[in-house]
Amino acid sequence: MHLKSDENLRSLFLSALRSRYVDSRAEIHVSDLVYCLREAYFRKIEPVDPTLKQLGFFVDGARRHKVLQEILGVECEVEVKRYGVVGHIDVMLDAPVEIKTTRARSALPDHYFRQLGFYAVMMNARHGYLVIQRLNAAEDPWEFYRVEWTEEEIKEIDRELKRRADQLRAALNFHDPSMLPEIEEDMRWKCRSCLYRERCKGRIQHERPKEAER
Ligand code: SF4
Repeated sequence: MHLKSDENLRSLFLSALRSRYVDSRAEIHVSDLVYCLREAYFRKIEPVDPTLKQLGFFVDGARRHKVLQEILGVECEVEVKRYGVVGHIDVMLDAPVEIKTTRARSALPDHYFRQLGFYAVMMNARHGYLVIQRLNAAEDPWEFYRVEWTEEEIKEIDRELKRRADQLRAALNFHDPSMLPEIEEDMRWKCRSCLYRERCKGRIQHERPKEAER
């Protein structure tokens, strides 16, 4: 037997992933609006090749959704649109279900609720569900939550969805990332592995995050 690393096979997988990641500049996705708007801007202006780490995330996510779809027998990856923003809801019950996988043992970061809230307003719901899989949990690795918002809260989430989409569109139209708000404090962990860190350098402070969170 002879074993050798196969670069062609590696390229085949990465180029297949690249074609899945091809990101139309005109189309804005919910995932563009949840985290750092500047990263979303750079991703559209200067797309970079996906990495093997991203291949891992993609495969893990796709496999998880497929298995849950089979177990529940419900719709998954349901497409919704609002203000020209496209979203894909992980699982659809009477309201959106967002599934998160994390290495954090207990954190419930704001961006989980922002993303779920965006999906809720996109389907005119005032509640949603959050399922968290904690990879490092000693026991009970799954958590299940129902999230309800008041009418005022849901209106504010709706305004935020529109505001962030408008901000990103304007920055893309004017080719000016400085029009976008700086990354929020609790999301600076993103900067550590950001592929556009150099482009961003000088504009923001890259502080060390308290807890890595995905
Ligand atoms: S380095 Fe940080 S602030 Fe800059 S684009 Fe990346 S995630 Fe956003």
